[in-house]
Amino acid sequence: MKYLKLTQLAHNTMQFFLEKGDIVIDATLGNGKDALFLAAIIGKRGTLIGFDIQEQAITETKRLFDKAKKERGEIFASLEIHQKSHCQMKKILGQRKAKVIVFNLGYLPKGDKNIITQTNTTLKALKNASQVLREDGLLSITCYTGHLKGKEEAKAVEKECQSWGETWCLLKTEITNAQKAPYLLQIIKKENTKH
Ligand code: SAM
Repeated sequence: MKYLKLTQLAHNTMQFFLEKGDIVIDATLGNGKDALFLAAIIGKRGTLIGFDIQEQAITETKRLFDKAKKERGEIFASLEIHQKSHCQMKKILGQRKAKVIVFNLGYLPKGDKNIITQTNTTLKALKNASQVLREDGLLSITCYTGHLKGKEEAKAVEKECQSWGETWCLLKTEITNAQKAPYLLQIIKKENTKH
């Protein structure tokens, strides 16, 4: 039986937006799965800029890329990995703009569940992301509502994105018959958006 996951939906949309040579930001590297998927699409002329505050996440991401290069022999995007908060995104990007920015909120799978994304820093990072995203670019955010802090964060994130107005196109994908399921926000920056 085929089971469609939210991650798969998020990946399909990101792939639709991307071309070889693009710049992509993974704001929450975790174990590097999203980053590897994106780096393979944008190829050797592309740049993948990744953030995570945990050393374990940086190590796991590098390990995943090394393994994939050995096994698949593919040429991936050049990697810029920062063990820093995603709040630093704008400073680190400088004049560069990204075509896709991905946030996968919550805690590191198989890691310390006490280290989770925090509403205040996530909101700051989203403001950064709105400025660093190219026109016609996609911001993809997976929110987890299974615990109280995650629920609060998800609400605040949605409210923030709503406040950007109609020059942005905000899509929400949710599993409507499961209360604690994660949901996906996809926000497209239309042309001539002042931000
Ligand atoms: N995208 C990842 C993957 O494909 O495996 C999963 C990401 S995981 C759900 C969330 C990550 O966000 C954790 O690794 C955590 O350390 C990281 N994180 C928490 N606060 C952060 C911050 N302020 N800046 C950057 N990363 C942060």
